[in-house]
Amino acid sequence: MAPASIVAAVTTTAPETEILAVGREIAAALPSASRNPLKALDDKAMDLASQDADLRAALFRFVDVVPACRSLDDLARHLSGFLDEVDDRPPSLQVAMRMSESRAGRQALGAAAAAGVKHMAHRFIVGETPREATGVLEDLWKHGVATSVDLLGEATITSAEADRYAGRCREALDGLVEVYRKLPERPSLEADSAGRIPRENLSVKVSALTPLLRADAPELGKRDAAVRLRDLLRRARELDAHLHIDMESFDSREAVTDLVLELLSEDEFKDGPSAGLVLQAYLRDSPQLCERVIDWAQSTPRGYPLLVRLVKGAYWDHEIVEARQHGWDAPVFEVKADSDRNFEDLTVRLLEARPSVRPAIASHNLRSVAHAIAQNRRLGAPDEDLELQVLRGLGDDLQHALAALGMRVRTYCPVGDLVAGMAYLVRRLLENTSNESFLHEQARGVPLETLLAAP
Ligand SMILES: Cc1cc2nc3c(=O)[nH]c(=O)nc-3n(C[C@H](O)[C@H](O)[C@H](O)COP(=O)(O)OP(=O)(O)OC[C@H]3O[C@@H](n4cnc5c(N)ncnc54)[C@H](O)[C@@H]3O)c2cc1C
Repeated sequence: MAPASIVAAVTTTAPETEILAVGREIAAALPSASRNPLKALDDKAMDLASQDADLRAALFRFVDVVPACRSLDDLARHLSGFLDEVDDRPPSLQVAMRMSESRAGRQALGAAAAAGVKHMAHRFIVGETPREATGVLEDLWKHGVATSVDLLGEATITSAEADRYAGRCREALDGLVEVYRKLPERPSLEADSAGRIPRENLSVKVSALTPLLRADAPELGKRDAAVRLRDLLRRARELDAHLHIDMESFDSREAVTDLVLELLSEDEFKDGPSAGLVLQAYLRDSPQLCERVIDWAQSTPRGYPLLVRLVKGAYWDHEIVEARQHGWDAPVFEVKADSDRNFEDLTVRLLEARPSVRPAIASHNLRSVAHAIAQNRRLGAPDEDLELQVLRGLGDDLQHALAALGMRVRTYCPVGDLVAGMAYLVRRLLENTSNESFLHEQARGVPLETLLAAP
């Protein structure tokens, strides 16, 4: 990597022509939709949902109640109840409504709905247990894709639940180490200029590690979560696994950031494990947080540089609703292009802050990804010094294209049952069917040049 003085002197904007060229190169490497007809079918269903706000709302509420339904009959009743609120029903839904008028019809509709939700969930969730996920993890590695396993489970209510989640994380670390150890060597996934990159990678959520994470009493939640997180960090260090701490809604952002930086400042974690946190570019104050994280990393040398995963943020709707309810200013940008521009600025800032931090740019937006690759090259760094990340189910095509181009790409693979996964699934559906989402624009055939235009 170029020394810091040279890096600082390089202009921070890669010309648009370079970004466009990289974007076109990635687009040309995308597998064609015809190779995966089942996925094309899912995309059609998503497209239908995104065109109709009522239908979208009804389906979200339906997905939310599925785990609580006791029978197929029950499930069908809920489905027809929700669909009843949709004014302009497409023909397929009118058939569904007619089916719900008889008990036999309801049984069939319930079975079809349950199968549909399961099918959709399997697109995003790789298995019910880490053992079940093994095949997918091995297969992705074989195709040049690294992984991060995420054990589903959010918003813990009791200490017993927090203990159980921590126990599952520990078991996953122990169980997966053998799986990762047996994988063949893949130099581009295992090292960059800053050194080794562990194969095993687990993402955890602080809200699942404590029932006490509350905005009005952050210290309490931090102290309670610290005990379980410290234990996981110790185990990760022993196994030489990477532990990543996800970021959730804004009300826990401060507590989560402080907790991670405080724990990683402890002497016992100086040499390891490799660990990281998440920066959300949709937050208006994320540039300040980015500076704070970089300052911390520069003044706290560690065996492994702090991995900073840059995302736009998955709780946009939640933050907007929460702020409106309380009459507050929203902490998130309200214009999509503002989030996109900030994402690009933060990308550059993180790339320039290497080697104190290891940036991972997590996006399914071809423009955001092409921008990161072009900026990295412009800064004189090899492609191996940039990690790109995608979500299972949303970034499958992009992951293959990036791997084919020799980029280091890591896919975030949720593991868990459908009930625990419902919150996750709803967030992914919201993201996928939002009119402003890149994936939605791409799916409805917006021309490549428009998709790649500067935000
Ligand atoms: C590997 C990985 C890990 C992740 N981990 C986390 C995590 O820990 N925490 C977390 O919060 N998210 C996480 N995410 C989710 C991530 O935040 C979303 O995938 C991301 O927001 C979608 O952005 P995009 O660049 O793929 O798509 P795009 O379509 O370009 O962007 C969509 C995003 O833009 C923002 N947005 C939408 N509408 C508006 C608007 N009107 N005004 C302003 N902004 C708007 C929202 O953030 C929305 O999600 C992760 C994603 C990946 C790939």
